[in-house]
Amino acid sequence: MKALGKLAPGPGLELHRAPLPEMGHNDLLIKIRKTAICGTDVHIDGWDEWARKTIPVPMIIGHEYVGVVAGIGQEVSGFELGDRVTGEGHVTCGHCRNCRAGRRHLCRNSVGVGVNRPGAFAEYLVIPAVNAFKLPDSISDEQAVIFDPLGNAVHTALSFDLVGEDVLITGAGPIGAMAAAVARHAGARHVVVTDVNPYRLALAERLGATRTVRVDRESLREVMANLGMSEGFDVGLEMSGAPAALAQMLDTINHGGKLALLGIPPGTMAVDWSQVVFKGLTLKGIYGREMFETWYKMASLVQAGLDPTPIITHRFAIDDFAKGFAVMRSGESGKVVLEWE
Ligand code: NAD
Ligand code: ZN
Repeated sequence: MKALGKLAPGPGLELHRAPLPEMGHNDLLIKIRKTAICGTDVHIDGWDEWARKTIPVPMIIGHEYVGVVAGIGQEVSGFELGDRVTGEGHVTCGHCRNCRAGRRHLCRNSVGVGVNRPGAFAEYLVIPAVNAFKLPDSISDEQAVIFDPLGNAVHTALSFDLVGEDVLITGAGPIGAMAAAVARHAGARHVVVTDVNPYRLALAERLGATRTVRVDRESLREVMANLGMSEGFDVGLEMSGAPAALAQMLDTINHGGKLALLGIPPGTMAVDWSQVVFKGLTLKGIYGREMFETWYKMASLVQAGLDPTPIITHRFAIDDFAKGFAVMRSGESGKVVLEWE
């Protein structure tokens, strides 16, 4: 089959021929229709320090996809050939305390599709059937192919009550912009999104931010004053990983505020802990998506009218994958979809 991955250590990816993946008793074989590029794939392509430490080669990359069930392991029930599916990219161990308690997203032994085991940038993918998410007809392939990052946005945004609240989202990358859509849909009042990249802020506005702020040019404090927010934000969703963004969030959040942190900081990050203490803040770290509550909620939100697809800005045939990775690196993109059919 055709597959995209890293064949040897070093920067770059190769479209190559790979053997069809072998399916175990509890697995599904999925024929891939569309995939989307994640920041993780860009790190692997660029072969940065994290990738060098983490990725065994050869490795087929990718974990955002939609496809059709083309093979079913003998112990699997609940799926039929031809079912449209996407899937959770963390394969969990099933035997740690959290897995056994049903908190699979907190598994300490999880293995990443397209990171630690062969991924979805291929004509066929094998994953445990329990990781697959069957799609209702009312959800399109373009909606489903970005369920993984939409799930990050839904998991983060629904961590705290947003109804009638003022929400600050720092970072208008694909996940931050989709979180703005979720916050609006969930009933927030002001959904203020910050970034330093005007292209990204325009996207966030399209997705539903009520106000965007270019923090290198504009004062967030002034924006808050103009909006009549005299006390501060009620909820903060940190989606940039930038230390300056978290500092600004701690500074503008109201007493008793709640912060959900998804962005991955570049390294050890200094935090003004006295703000956390004196303001009585609640901080929650977010990793991945809840398995599978986030998936059910996200599917229902999409069926209820939440449409994340305006975040897709580019589409390429898989043979043009290099163009897709280049536009991802440019910063002038939302989600980039690679078509396999
Ligand atoms: P992205 O890198 O595309 O977006 C981050 C955005 O933050 C960029 O648009 C950047 O311009 C902006 N930014 C930089 N400095 C800023 C500042 N001072 N204030 C406001 N914004 C600033 O990332 P993404 O794909 O949307 O993902 C968002 C973050 O979440 C990244 O840090 C990513 O690594 C992380 N992530 C975490 C998980 C998880 O499970 N915790 C999963 C996926 C991604
Ligand atoms: Zn586990």
